Amino acid sequence: MANVDVIVVGAGVAGLVTADRVRAAGRSVVVLEARDRVGGRTLTEPVPGVKGLSVDAGAAWVAPDQRLLRAELARFGLETTPQDGPGDALTSLRGKSRRYAATARAFDAVTTADVGQAMMRFAAAADHVDVEAPWRGEHAPRYDAQTFESWIRRVCVTPKGRDYFRLVCGTVLATEPQNVSLLHMLFFARSGGGLLHLLTTGGGAQDARVVGGMQQVAQRLADGLGRWVRLQEPVTTIMHDADGVTVHSESGATTAHHVVVTVPPALATSIEYLPGLPHERTQLVQRMPHGSVVKCHAVYTRPFWHDLALSGEITTDEGPAKVVFDTSPPDSRYGVLTVLVEGDDALRLGAKGPARARTEVLRGLAEHLGPRAMDPQAFVSHDWTAEEWTRGCYGAHLPPGAWTQVGSALRVPVGRIHWAGTETAERWCGYVDGAIASGERVAAEVLTALP
Ligand SMILES: Cc1cc2nc3c(=O)[nH]c(=O)nc-3n(C[C@H](O)[C@H](O)[C@H](O)COP(=O)(O)OP(=O)(O)OC[C@H]3O[C@@H](n4cnc5c(N)ncnc54)[C@H](O)[C@@H]3O)c2cc1C
Repeated sequence: MANVDVIVVGAGVAGLVTADRVRAAGRSVVVLEARDRVGGRTLTEPVPGVKGLSVDAGAAWVAPDQRLLRAELARFGLETTPQDGPGDALTSLRGKSRRYAATARAFDAVTTADVGQAMMRFAAAADHVDVEAPWRGEHAPRYDAQTFESWIRRVCVTPKGRDYFRLVCGTVLATEPQNVSLLHMLFFARSGGGLLHLLTTGGGAQDARVVGGMQQVAQRLADGLGRWVRLQEPVTTIMHDADGVTVHSESGATTAHHVVVTVPPALATSIEYLPGLPHERTQLVQRMPHGSVVKCHAVYTRPFWHDLALSGEITTDEGPAKVVFDTSPPDSRYGVLTVLVEGDDALRLGAKGPARARTEVLRGLAEHLGPRAMDPQAFVSHDWTAEEWTRGCYGAHLPPGAWTQVGSALRVPVGRIHWAGTETAERWCGYVDGAIASGERVAAEVLTALP
């Protein structure tokens, strides 16, 4: 006799949406979460010593066309604040710095032409990728036989153009382009509405932030589920057969008709499955490493960069502070700069520890914004590669060969074990919206399968 209809492993957004939809359909569900909190890769933390200020150490931004996330925000009465503010952004490639307004060009004429032609070729190639099944299609084997770095070298004709696309890879996947299959990069961009859309603030993926923080989405979902969300229950073993599943966690065994695993792919391998999973499935998750990010926040008494008519947005190829956004609260009672340290920079900085990270990041800010940047009221950093239950972010990426060889196993249930999580999404893969989509998809899947 099963304890519940469905067990969900992981109380990130995907797991909580799954449980929410299963419960709404009148079925019983329990969520087992390893951490002592819900939200997974969404985490809103108070800044020590700064009264009333919280920052998003994990996901922060919402796009206008992230329909599912927008619907959850509306359901819980959560508001957003636009990312774009007054002032010019800064870009710096190979030591040449430019300031630009949203309407003007970020690069010199030659680089602009190079980036433009490469963007057009990238978009044309992405049009051939089937987001529902990237392993299919006439061009898939060719795209999957090369890295994004080899594409950059072949297609970009200027050194600055090449550096720009390397920066782009860090920005969206938090890894270096030699680690990523071209097919994966094309899929990822198409899944989120195109590469330019992923890189854009107003109207794009960084259009707005959630007032009060993104983690509230998970917290509100968990509030609705009440005692059916069990924290500090890392799942160690899943036993499954034709009659049901038995899931072993900290407090013992729970039985159900079906189990939904929503943990990031790299962590799905650390759960023991009895009997073992098909070879294709195991191979796939072993070939889905995560990127690396240290997300930092420098808090100032006020957004002093406004005095220089700067927006606080900085993109540079000189690390580690390569991508910077102004995330000050809407009333500007503090000035907050979010610094995304990505890929190799994150691995290097993470190894040096928080004190060194602080110095290096602040020095990078000071180069663009002047000495005032060296003296924040507070500085916090979050190294996601060191998180036991995430092990890197923003999400997983696939190296050459993986999509076409074993990618078709991504969403296929193994008996009574079902798979969700943002990495399984067709639209907005890697984003919160994709996590919601995956939860809705898998909830429908188990509801159909339940007796
Ligand atoms: C720094 C950062 C910035 C980001 N920025 C954005 C952004 O601006 N916009 C955006 O849309 N997305 C962003 N993302 C990505 C977004 O956070 C993720 O896509 C999304 O939160 C993934 O949700 P999920 O439920 O699929 O996975 P997760 O949030 O990873 O949830 C999985 C859950 O499983 C739990 N777990 C793991 N192993 C076990 C186990 N053995 N037993 C039980 N539980 C387990 C984990 O603790 C976790 O709670 C960002 C991510 C990071 C880290």
